[in-house]
Amino acid sequence: MSAVSISSIPTVASQLGKTTLGNKFLSLISIYRGDITKLSVDAIVNACDTKVLGGGGVDGAIHRAAGPQLLAECRTLNGCETGKAKITKGYRLPAEYVIQAVGPVGENAELLRSAYWESLEVAKKAGVRTIAFPCISTGVFGYPPEKACGVCVRAVEEWVKENPGMMERVVFCVFNDVSEQIYAREMKAFD
Ligand code: ADP
Repeated sequence: MSAVSISSIPTVASQLGKTTLGNKFLSLISIYRGDITKLSVDAIVNACDTKVLGGGGVDGAIHRAAGPQLLAECRTLNGCETGKAKITKGYRLPAEYVIQAVGPVGENAELLRSAYWESLEVAKKAGVRTIAFPCISTGVFGYPPEKACGVCVRAVEEWVKENPGMMERVVFCVFNDVSEQIYAREMKAFD
């Protein structure tokens, strides 16, 4: 499958048929179900461990798609602390950058929130306007998906409020049915 352009991904606001918005947040958020490596956005976020040297899950998929130059650049990073993020280029990916974010192992709301927040900070510094997140920590790191969704949606909402006009689109890239339903439900709180 070829790259998916951001203009082809609807916002939650447009999906809900909103023309007048009580909450502007929904007009810059999308829920996209599929492979994050296909997204043609300024930056995709990777869910990696503190070594930042590749792995399984979304991390493995990103390295496979980006090619060996990504791992070479990752080796120069000297790892990354939990709750923090570092930026690399996207190499063969349609995305220009990969933001290597480290979520917590297990349930830790503060560190999960920090991983999203720091990703957005790193993105802002690089001039990123469109960004896609996977469901950080909800795979092998074992964060309960529903709780993780509540934490990360609020983290992004708060960041966007504190940084008006800095991000044009934030995509929550979900990989399965269950996650898609969880995010759709969560969005109703903003409707
Ligand atoms: P973690 O170690 O942070 O838990 P995982 O990669 O195990 O990271 O899982 C994080 C999430 O990424 C899971 O919800 C998983 O289903 C999802 N995922 C796996 N592959 C992809 C992919 N290619 N694109 C988007 N999401 C993916």
